[in-house]
Amino acid sequence: ANTIQVKFKDGSIRLFSAGVTCKDLAFTISKSLGKKAVAVKVNGQSFDLSYVLESDAEVEILTLEDSMGIEVMRLTTAHVMAQAIKRLYPEVKLAIGPVIPGGFYYDFADRTFNLEDLSKIEAEMKRIIQENLPIERRVVSREEALAYFQEKDERFKVEMIQDTPIGEEITLYQQGEYTDLCRGPHLPSTGLVKAFKLMSIAGSYWRGDANREMLTRIYGVAFRTHQELNNHLREIEEAKQRDHRKVGKEQEIFMLCKEVGQGLPIWLPKGAKIRRLIESYMIDLEEKMGYEHVYSPHLANINLYKIADYLQQYSDELYPSLKLDKQEELILRPINCPHHMMVFKSKVRSYRDLPVRIAELGMMHRNEIPETLTGLERVRVMTMNDAHIFCRQDQIKEEFKQVVRLIKQVYDDFGIINYFYRLSYPNLHGQDDTKWELSQQQLKETLDELGLDYVEEINDAAPYGGPKLDVQVKTASGKTETLSTIQLDFQLPEHFELNYINETSQKECPMVIHHSILGTLERFIAFLIEQYQGAFPIWLAPIQVRVVTVGQDYEDYAQEVAKKLQHSGIRVELDANAETLNYKIRRAQIDRIPYTLVIGERELGMQVVRPRHYGRGDLGVMSLDIFLARVQEEVYHKELL
Ligand code: ATP
Ligand code: ZN
Repeated sequence: ANTIQVKFKDGSIRLFSAGVTCKDLAFTISKSLGKKAVAVKVNGQSFDLSYVLESDAEVEILTLEDSMGIEVMRLTTAHVMAQAIKRLYPEVKLAIGPVIPGGFYYDFADRTFNLEDLSKIEAEMKRIIQENLPIERRVVSREEALAYFQEKDERFKVEMIQDTPIGEEITLYQQGEYTDLCRGPHLPSTGLVKAFKLMSIAGSYWRGDANREMLTRIYGVAFRTHQELNNHLREIEEAKQRDHRKVGKEQEIFMLCKEVGQGLPIWLPKGAKIRRLIESYMIDLEEKMGYEHVYSPHLANINLYKIADYLQQYSDELYPSLKLDKQEELILRPINCPHHMMVFKSKVRSYRDLPVRIAELGMMHRNEIPETLTGLERVRVMTMNDAHIFCRQDQIKEEFKQVVRLIKQVYDDFGIINYFYRLSYPNLHGQDDTKWELSQQQLKETLDELGLDYVEEINDAAPYGGPKLDVQVKTASGKTETLSTIQLDFQLPEHFELNYINETSQKECPMVIHHSILGTLERFIAFLIEQYQGAFPIWLAPIQVRVVTVGQDYEDYAQEVAKKLQHSGIRVELDANAETLNYKIRRAQIDRIPYTLVIGERELGMQVVRPRHYGRGDLGVMSLDIFLARVQEEVYHKELL
C-alpha cells in the first residue's frame, strides 16, 4: 500500500499506509488515546472513528474532552433513546433527532408519552449502553434506503430519503437491531455513552410546519461525567427557582390569565409599585441629563406610519387596523418614533437648539407569536423607556457616548453586571452606500474611544436600518435578550422632512439617535426579578419594613413605630397576627422584606426597635431614629439586599 502523511494537531507528521482506519491510527499514537477516542476530525470535517484514510490528511482524534466529541456522544445518545423507544413501543414512528446545546431531542409519531414513560425509556437506554453494541455506518443507494424504510413503515424516513438531492450520499447507522437514517458521525459503540437524562416532553410538528403532522418531542441531556450532568441539573433547578414567572407569581408582582388575554399582563399592587419607582427614577435621571418627557397617544392615524415607511417593517407585528370611516384608519402603534418626529417638527429649530432630546414612557402594541410570549419578558402590550435625540452630524459621537454612559450608570444603580454589547449593522446586500458606511464607521470609532468590548453582527432585520448597539443579557431560562438599545438613523428624519436652521440660515436635516436605556419596563423588570431572585433592593422593595409583634400584646407601640416610619416616607406594614414570632419572621423572609422590626416587651420598655435584615439577620436593638437614618441611607445609596 501507498504511504500517506498524516499531520496532527500538535504539528507532528507521521507516516501510515493508505487504508488505515482512524481508530488504528489513534491506537498507534497511544493505547489510552485509542480507548478514549470517540470520533475524528479529518481536514476540518468530523467523521466516525472507522473512517479510512486513503491520502495525506490533517487529523485530530476527538475524545470527550473536545466539544465536538461530546456532540458526537449526544447524537449517539439520541439514537440510543430512539432504539429504546422502538424496543418498548414498536408502533412508534421515528422522525428526526438532532443535537442541541447540552443535549439532543428526537421527534416521534403515533404515540404520546408521559413522564412515567421517560424513566422506563431511561432504564432501557441503560441496558443498550450496557450491551455496548458496535455502531456501524453504511453508505447505501437511494433504492436500498427507500426499500428498507418502506418495509419498516417509517414514513418520515421515506420522505427524507425522497427529498435528498440526487447524488448526495445516503448513510445508515446500525446498532444492534436498530438502524437509522443519519449523517453521523457516531461513537464506535453504545457503551461509550456516559451520563444522560431525559428531561421533558413537548409537542412539535413534522418539519416545524403547523399544517403537517403533530409529533411528540422528547428532550434529553448528555454529559461527559455524572458530575457534569449533576451540575447541569442543579443549574437548571436554580434557574427554575429564579424564573421571573415563578417569582412574579409568588411575590404577587404580576398576573396573566386567559380571560384578559395572552401576553397581556396585569401589574399587581407590588409590581405596580416597583414599576412606578423605576419610572420615576428614569424620568428624573433623563430630565437631569437634558431630556424632555412627553406623552403621546398609542393609537395613531395609519398615515403617520406610512410617512415613516414603517408599515412594511412592522407588518408582522401590527394588529389589524381600526377603520372608522373613509377618512380615518387607526393603528395601535408598534413603536413610538413617528410621534416623536412630530414633536420635533412642531416648531422651528435652530442649530443652537440641538441636540433636542425627546423622551417618553411610550406604550406600544405588538402582535407577537403566541409561542414566543414569556411572562413579562415578551408581551403584547409594552411600555418602552424611549427617547430620540435630534442632533447635528458633528454631535453624534458625543451624544452617543452620553447615552452609553447613562446606560452604565443605570446598570450600576441596579447592580446589573452580567451583560455584553452587541454592535449590529443592517445588511446592505452588497450595495455601496457612503452615508451608511460613514455612520457605521462613526459608531465604531465612538465605541473604541469609550474602550468598550463588543461583538459584531450583521442584522438582517434591523427595524430602522441604521447601525445599532444593543446591550444583551441572559435570562434565567437561558435566552439572550436585548435590554438597552441605541440606534443611529438618518432615514426617518428625511421621511418626515425634519429640519433645523443651520449657521448659514439654510435648512438642514438632523440625525436621530433612537435609544432605550431600560428597554421596555416589562422586560426590564422580568430581568430584575430574576437577577434579584425576587429580593428587590430596599430602594425598590414594594414593602421596605414589616413591623411584627411578639404575640398580640404590643400592637399599640408597633402601630406607633409603623406610623412614624410611614410619615418619614418608608413603605411599611404591620403584622400583629396571633402566629408565633418565628413564623412571622420566616414569613417576612419568604416575602423578601428587607427589614423586619421585632416589637416585644424589651423594645416597648426601652422604646427601641430590633431590626432583622433580610440578608444580614438580627442587628440588635437601636433607636427608631437610628434605624430610620440607616434605611434612608441605604435607599439613597441604592444598596443591594
Ligand atoms: P426583539 O428582537 O426582542 O423582538 P426588537 O428588536 O423587535 O426586539 P425593538 O423594536 O428594538 O425590539 O424594541 C426595543 C426594546 O423593546 C427591546 O430592546 C426590548 O427591551 C423591548 N421589547 C421588544 N419586544 C418586546 C416584547 N414583545 N415584550 C417586551 N419587551 C419587548
Ligand atoms: Zn425610535
